Amino acid sequence: MNAPQKPVDIAANLAAVKAKIAAAAEIAERDAHSTTLVAVSKTHPRENILPAIQAGHRVFGENRVQEAAEKWPALKQSHPDCILHLIGPLQTNKTKQAVELFDVIETLDRPKLARALATQAEKLGRVPALFVQVNTGEEPQKAGILPADADRFIAECRREFQLPVEGLMCIPPVEDEPSLHFMLLREIAARNGLSSLSMGMSADYEIAVRFGATHVRVGTAIFGPRQP
Ligand SMILES: *Cc1c(COP(=O)(O)O)cnc(C)c1O
Repeated sequence: MNAPQKPVDIAANLAAVKAKIAAAAEIAERDAHSTTLVAVSKTHPRENILPAIQAGHRVFGENRVQEAAEKWPALKQSHPDCILHLIGPLQTNKTKQAVELFDVIETLDRPKLARALATQAEKLGRVPALFVQVNTGEEPQKAGILPADADRFIAECRREFQLPVEGLMCIPPVEDEPSLHFMLLREIAARNGLSSLSMGMSADYEIAVRFGATHVRVGTAIFGPRQP
């Protein structure tokens, strides 16, 4: 028989992650408040999100539009200051729902999606903050624009679609040294005048902070393991 699982103390985990972010920032001589913790609540029910909100946390990430649409309207109604990030791939047919629901979309990665976002932003009179996802590891199965195409795509989003691109996001290959990817992302952002960098997850967010992450996306270290 399996040993009973210890209940996850979400408030304590949050505090521990925030302390580690602050420590990493100090090592890098960065302001401790220059990195926003995006608590990734995907697959976790409302009951697990509430303790984080009650502990004062406000910034959350979800990877699926449908799941977020089921969980978040009620949570946002009771806590209107919550800020929701989309961190998973966005299909163009879900763009309207995504623009209505999310405050930040981190996964802009192709012209067709840029066009759809621009159309919905105009129709709805609401435009989320946008991050361009870069496939820094050039993995065929992964979303994101290739590094070599990033400058042109960012310029196209700005000029042709008048989209307010604020930053870049990456998900390094699991087997790689993440710092190389964090450096590449930082370089692409710098030469395009972008101030935000979403990089770093449970396994490597402290490294990401040292390499200049303005947003880290942390799920497991806060909410515990996800059901497969
Ligand atoms: C799930 C997910 C995370 C969080 O991963 P953890 O390892 O649980 O911290 C971060 N970013 C993206 C894009 C994700 O899909």
